[in-house]
Amino acid sequence: MNPVKRQMSKIIQLILTIVLAISSISMPMRAEAKENIVVVIDPGHGGTNLGANPPGYVEKEMTLITALAMKEELEKYQGVTVYLTRNTDAELSLEQRAVMAKSVNADFLYSLHYNMSANHFFYGSEVWAQSTGTNYVKGYAQGQLFLNEFVSNYGLFSRGVKVKLGKSGNEYYGILRQSEKLGVPAVIVEHCHLDHMNDANYYNSTEKLQAFGKSDATAVAKYFGLSSQVLAVDYSNYPKTLVTASATPKVQDLTPPEIATLSVSSRNVTNKKLNIHVTAADSNTGIMYYAYSKDGGGSWSALQPWPSATDNLTIEIPASYGPTRSAVVAVFNSYDGMTLSNAVAY
Ligand SMILES: [Zn+2]
Repeated sequence: MNPVKRQMSKIIQLILTIVLAISSISMPMRAEAKENIVVVIDPGHGGTNLGANPPGYVEKEMTLITALAMKEELEKYQGVTVYLTRNTDAELSLEQRAVMAKSVNADFLYSLHYNMSANHFFYGSEVWAQSTGTNYVKGYAQGQLFLNEFVSNYGLFSRGVKVKLGKSGNEYYGILRQSEKLGVPAVIVEHCHLDHMNDANYYNSTEKLQAFGKSDATAVAKYFGLSSQVLAVDYSNYPKTLVTASATPKVQDLTPPEIATLSVSSRNVTNKKLNIHVTAADSNTGIMYYAYSKDGGGSWSALQPWPSATDNLTIEIPASYGPTRSAVVAVFNSYDGMTLSNAVAY
């Protein structure tokens, strides 16, 4: 090689080295900025904080099983980095969980739970979102996707995406309050209720708890528009329910249903059947469940889902001709606020 050619070759090599160096630096950076999302999964409770603890179950163990399955499934998608706040039976404060999410610059924090209600009335799935600004918009859209999975995969009853402010005007739930403070979007996913026979079949094995984790991962993948070669799915541009961001926090429904009226349309003494007609309304969050009593409120039917988008229904109930013949209906809104109807003798 003559000196001129050698010089040229050196220059070309130098240029190639620079080009390669630039591309190897800039490509991952571009992916980080535009394509890679970071999510943090928080298995609720842990350590001495057991969570719900009905006979045979400990919530902190259930949430960890679901979270591990969620992480494993989510990692089958491209462009996502997944962290857990705990992968052992560790005791963490709610603040520590939120700080952890902030430290990795999480695009979303998912706190996984299993539910119980104080009076053991309620069943179904629900998601709690932060109540302010864009975090509410994000939480609502993501929450609906979780609930869609639970309804379509398992037939669970959806109790909706909800918000709750405490007396101070901040988020009522600690994990949402701590995340909000750090600017991290977060939701609480309450998969189902552990104290109601309606939901009993959805969590009674490790496989079912893992199935929830897979559904959770799918909901996240749909929210972020992820694709997976392994799973052969592409959720880019998956539709979301968009609510409008409000400057003031969205406030929970603090009032019970406004209307609950009952009339007896007919009774059939021979077949011991009673037809009752119920009109009910809750202008804030709608009617969610109803229950009826045939003995003036002494005993109650199981809670029934109120058909959505209707304000009245006629139902046939088995009548009892005991000493107290009085029909009464209880209706509940999305926030478990209850109104009793008038009682009608039959
Ligand atoms: Zn919990």
